[in-house]
Amino acid sequence: MRGKLWLGFLMVIVLLWVICIYAVLSSMSVREVFVKLGHYVVPSAITMIEMRTELNELREETLAYILRGNVVSEGKTSRERLEELYGELRGFAEEHLEHEIVVGPKARAEAEKLATLSQKIILTSAEITKLKDQGAGVDELLEKMDQDFRPAFVPLRGLVGELIAEHREKLSAAETLVHDKHDTSIRIILIVGILTTLIALVVASFVDRFFVRYITKRKRAEEVLREREARYRTLVENIPQKIFLKDRDSTYISCNENYARDLKIESHEIVGKDDYEFYPKQLAEKYRGDDKRIMESGRTEDLEEQYIQDGEKRWVHTLKTPVKDEDGNITGILGIFRDITERKKAEEEIKQRADEWQRTFHSIADLVFIQDKDLRFIRVNKGATEALKAKPEDLIGKTCYEVLHKRDKPWSNCPMAKAFKDGKTHTEEIDDPNIGIPLLVSASPIFDEKGKIIGGVHVAKDITERKKIEEALKKQTHDLGERVKELHCLYGISELVESKGIFLEEILQGTADLIPPSWEYPEVTCARIILDAQTFKTKNFKETAWKQTSDITVRGKKIGSVEVFYLEEKPNTDEGPFLKDERSLIDDIAQQLGRVIDRRDAERELIIKEEAIASSVNAIALADLEGNLTYVNRSFLDMWGYVNDREVLGKPIAGFWEKREKVLETLKALAREKNWMGELVARRKNGSTFDVQLLANIVENEAGKAICIMASVVDITERKKIEQMKSDFVSLASHELRTPLTSIVGYVDLILDGDTGEINKEQREFLEIISRNTQRFEALINDVLDIEKIESGRIQLKQEKVNLIEIVETSAYTFKIMAETKGLKLEKEIKTPELEILGDPDRLSQVFSNLLSNAIKYTKEGEVKVLAQNKGRFASVIVEDTGLGMTRDELRSVFTRFFRSEDSYVRETTGTGLGLSIAKATIERHNGEIKVESKLGVGSKFEVILPLLEEQKKGG
Ligand code: ADP
Repeated sequence: MRGKLWLGFLMVIVLLWVICIYAVLSSMSVREVFVKLGHYVVPSAITMIEMRTELNELREETLAYILRGNVVSEGKTSRERLEELYGELRGFAEEHLEHEIVVGPKARAEAEKLATLSQKIILTSAEITKLKDQGAGVDELLEKMDQDFRPAFVPLRGLVGELIAEHREKLSAAETLVHDKHDTSIRIILIVGILTTLIALVVASFVDRFFVRYITKRKRAEEVLREREARYRTLVENIPQKIFLKDRDSTYISCNENYARDLKIESHEIVGKDDYEFYPKQLAEKYRGDDKRIMESGRTEDLEEQYIQDGEKRWVHTLKTPVKDEDGNITGILGIFRDITERKKAEEEIKQRADEWQRTFHSIADLVFIQDKDLRFIRVNKGATEALKAKPEDLIGKTCYEVLHKRDKPWSNCPMAKAFKDGKTHTEEIDDPNIGIPLLVSASPIFDEKGKIIGGVHVAKDITERKKIEEALKKQTHDLGERVKELHCLYGISELVESKGIFLEEILQGTADLIPPSWEYPEVTCARIILDAQTFKTKNFKETAWKQTSDITVRGKKIGSVEVFYLEEKPNTDEGPFLKDERSLIDDIAQQLGRVIDRRDAERELIIKEEAIASSVNAIALADLEGNLTYVNRSFLDMWGYVNDREVLGKPIAGFWEKREKVLETLKALAREKNWMGELVARRKNGSTFDVQLLANIVENEAGKAICIMASVVDITERKKIEQMKSDFVSLASHELRTPLTSIVGYVDLILDGDTGEINKEQREFLEIISRNTQRFEALINDVLDIEKIESGRIQLKQEKVNLIEIVETSAYTFKIMAETKGLKLEKEIKTPELEILGDPDRLSQVFSNLLSNAIKYTKEGEVKVLAQNKGRFASVIVEDTGLGMTRDELRSVFTRFFRSEDSYVRETTGTGLGLSIAKATIERHNGEIKVESKLGVGSKFEVILPLLEEQKKGG
């Protein structure tokens, strides 16, 4: 090292010498000399020498030109050569002036002289040339040369000679000067060089000494540094962290073995590589981005990063710090990182567990609280917040007793307080109205590692449902008990009822005795059953204010009551102190009694009916559906002349009549119509016959199924006789009455007409009364005859195709005037042009006339309306009025013979009270029906319904 140092110094010295020499040589004086010498002195001397040479050549050339003419030599004519020489001559003169610096001030005069002489020579040569051109002879030209050219040429050559001498002198003077200067320079160089060398040596030795010391020190420092570096290397290589160093471009400069191992390379191989070579593009970009950011900000960053290596998720913790040089410029980046995957995994696992715990904690449906030693909530689960309708922040930090029990000190039975005391789990059912829900609380202490209690976990279960179920169960059990009691009671009553030969009185008393045990408080219960005037009571019976009763009804009619009394006051429930179920029980008992009584009544009735049938004067018989007798009563046996029913039972009914065929026909009609009424001729045991009226019908059970035939027979032999007599009498009487009546009417009319002479006013009045009454009487007789004929069937109705509309129209037309006279409106509404039926037109006309006449008669004001229409299979004719109307009672009797309303207006109106009876009988004979609706003071509506012809045909 020192050798090198000295070599360095030597070189420095040499350099200094060179500098010295250069400095001296380049000093001003030396340079000047050289310049003058080189640039001015030498050239000016040369110029002058050249000028002399040129002058001589000019003279020679001029002479040659004169003598030889303008010849060509070396590519130029003599003349051209001369002109060239003249030009140069002029140039020398000018050049001399430039050498003023060498020549000094006289150079100007010399230059002018040179120029003048040169000018003269040039002019002379021009003249000579001119003369030559004019053809002058050589002599003349030579003469000219002598005269003009020579006088200029000689002085010029002299001057040039002088100048050459002068220049030579100047040159030698300069050379001397240079020589002198040169010596001085060498001296200076030597002196300066030696001095410099000496100084350099002094400096070198000083430096050497200092350097030796410095080197030693540095060596030591280097050693320390090396040691340190080794140690640092060892440290860097051995620490678990991975270390790398990158330059400003994020290119790796170095890394430790640990890092290299991770990258699966040798540590030295990292130099010059970048992250793209080791990491996926995205990650490499991120790393480089981080580097850039850190280098830009100059701040160390602490990064936790995740990446995927070999398909596995890994975590690294990286500390990246910018590296700076001495000037504080950032030159790269140092990264220290370590794989924290395991730690992260552990953390994640802890987090996951915590999450799981948290989730579990919140998914517990029960109310879970974690409390500290002071019973303050530390944690509450969702179950708790939801059940208490509170937010976690409303609960956390507060004590259970203030939040839940709304107290200022722990609850006396607090299971948590107990758990804190003995370190055990305590369970308690808590039904504090302040909480609002019944809870089953279990409180367990929480211990720290040393076994010290640090808090507790409090799990509360909402047992509202359980409580409800318990309650319901309790209630059900109770209800069941009550039911059993009720059933016992009802069963007891049934048993009583079923007992053979028991009297109703015994049943009622027994029932009263069965009641008390079925009520909720049997010991204070008494009962009473009232039926008509009879009462049946329990022994302890006493009337009190706590009473429950139910009516005994038979077919909707109250016949008695069942009463239950409590002998002392009991808490109120559903119906006073009585339960809902007791209400149904008492109702059930009353109903059952109702049924029992009804059945007993029915039984009694049945016996009576049986008796009545048996003893009926009508012959009554039952037959099965095949027509064989199953029952006959006494009268039947009597009528037919049998002694014992065994003689007739099981025999076909057809055998008991005169005409077998007629009976079979009747049976057919019965099967079709379900009932049949008519007259038949019966045959007695002894073969004699008698007239009977038979009423037969098919008996159906409740489901509507035919079960047997019942026949009731009345012996009408007597009635037939009387009817015949009556009919004969009526015919006779009416005939006998009508004949004199005709003559009375005829003669009265004659007298009234004045055919028998004048009659006075009084006579007229009387006669008119006679006439009116006779007419009424006649009408009455006619009506009586009619009805008699119709009812007895003696009248033969015509069976014609009739259009009912025509009859209605005609009748309406007939009564139009009557209506108008009375100021009534008669309206018709014919809904169909044809209503064809089978019947007697005159009789039907009589019916409608009667209905219309009644409507007009019994209507004071308003209108009468006739409506004819088709109603399915029937023809319907309605006669409606806005007249007097009828009461309900009147309506019931309206079709009864001779019925007339009590109303004075009706009484004032003529009428027999037979019209509607005739109408009804007529319509019924036509297989029709007549209906009436009426309201007193509003009006009446009569409707006639008759089967249409088409229907009759179908029905056969
Ligand atoms: P009469 O000859 O009296 O009209 P009817 O048999 O025709 O006999 O009628 C019997 C009674 O029915 C009448 O007297 C009257 O009281 C009552 N009656 C009949 N038709 C009407 C009617 N359209 N409005 C009110 N009453 C009526």
